[in-house]
Amino acid sequence: MSNFLKDQKSPLDSVEIIADDISHIDIKNKKVCLKKCENKPCTYYCPTRVYSWSGEDTEIKVDYTRCVECLACPQGCPYNNIAWQLPKGGYGVNYQR
Ligand code: SF4
Ligand code: SF4
Repeated sequence: MSNFLKDQKSPLDSVEIIADDISHIDIKNKKVCLKKCENKPCTYYCPTRVYSWSGEDTEIKVDYTRCVECLACPQGCPYNNIAWQLPKGGYGVNYQR
C-alpha cells in the first residue's frame, strides 16, 4: 500500500484535475506489457494508480484522468514503453487549489 494512503489521504485529495477527452499517456506497444513485463512496476510506482492490471487482463489499463504529472512513469517503465506528454493547455493538474 502506498505511503500516501497511510492516513487515508491520496494526492488526489489535494489537487484539482481537468481531464482532456484525449489521453496524454499512451502505451507504445501493449504486447510488451503482456509478454515481457513480468512485474508491471507502473502499477506500483504511480502515486495515483493510473495504471492497473488484473489477472484476466491482456492489456494495461490507463486511467489518465488520475494523473498528477509527477513524471515518474516515463522514467520508471523498464521497457521505455510509455509515451507521456504534458496535457494540452487548459487541462491537467492544478496544485494551487
Ligand atoms: S511498466 Fe511499462 S512495460 Fe511494464 S506494464 Fe507498465 S507500461 Fe507496460
Ligand atoms: S506522471 Fe506520475 S501520476 Fe501521472 S501517470 Fe505517470 S506516474 Fe502516474
